[in-house]
Amino acid sequence: MRRVLLGFGLILLSLNAACVTNPATGRSQFNALSTEQEIAIGTQAMPELIEGYGGVVPDPALRDYVTRIGMSMVPSTEAHFPELPWEFTFLNSSVINAFALPGGKVFVSRALVERMTSEAQLAGVLGHEIGHVTAQHVDDKLARQTGLEIGAAVIGVIAGQSQVQGAVELANLAVTGAGVYALKFDRNQESESDSLGMRYMTKAGYKPRGMLEVMEILKAAGGGGGQPEWMSTHPLPTTRIDRISNELKKKKYRETDSDPTLGTFEDRFERECLSRLRTLPPPAK
Ligand SMILES: [Zn+2]
Repeated sequence: MRRVLLGFGLILLSLNAACVTNPATGRSQFNALSTEQEIAIGTQAMPELIEGYGGVVPDPALRDYVTRIGMSMVPSTEAHFPELPWEFTFLNSSVINAFALPGGKVFVSRALVERMTSEAQLAGVLGHEIGHVTAQHVDDKLARQTGLEIGAAVIGVIAGQSQVQGAVELANLAVTGAGVYALKFDRNQESESDSLGMRYMTKAGYKPRGMLEVMEILKAAGGGGGQPEWMSTHPLPTTRIDRISNELKKKKYRETDSDPTLGTFEDRFERECLSRLRTLPPPAK
């Protein structure tokens, strides 16, 4: 019985693989999860991650600020993505990191934000993470890395459990070990997210060079010995920075630096974010 079901599960996966075109990237993808399953995975894994990172920044105005920057880019995402239950979490952590969970959960750490000098840089990081969600990279990766286990979770769904329960089981599988958020993305996925992030931030009124600046900040933060954790989940070779520089020179972005309708918003970032962060006690972890 189990063997028959396993075969069925894998057939479902391969059918999906053949026919899904991602509306953000325009490429055909191997997606094993439904939108509901993606949302269930993100929602289930979120509390544990927040706790693991020492909770949220203890100032509602700062949390709202990060949410506002993130949400300003959501309407520019493609197809059904604006309707995802997006949440932007400001982690009270001294670890330099940002990551996303499937289904619209985005996280940025205090230590990373404290190294930034403009709102456009924050939009760059959040836009990049939004890009991982809309490009469905975790889904993509999970399907490739744990094809069999996903097959098993799909079986759970077929065997009559609710879809959410099936997804939660899958989330448990995914969160075990390295963790779903710590799945290493490859260079192509990182570049894809950079491009999507630049698209979203520009549409929201930010100069896309904020993306380049924040990558340089991360690179510099990695130079002094302690690698920011961000590096372990987001490979950052020099080639990637070069790629962003090249993209900024293309027709699409060439004029953005002098475009008066786009901004970087250093002053607002200092006033509404950095100055408030300085009044808080340092994070516990
Ligand atoms: Zn990334």
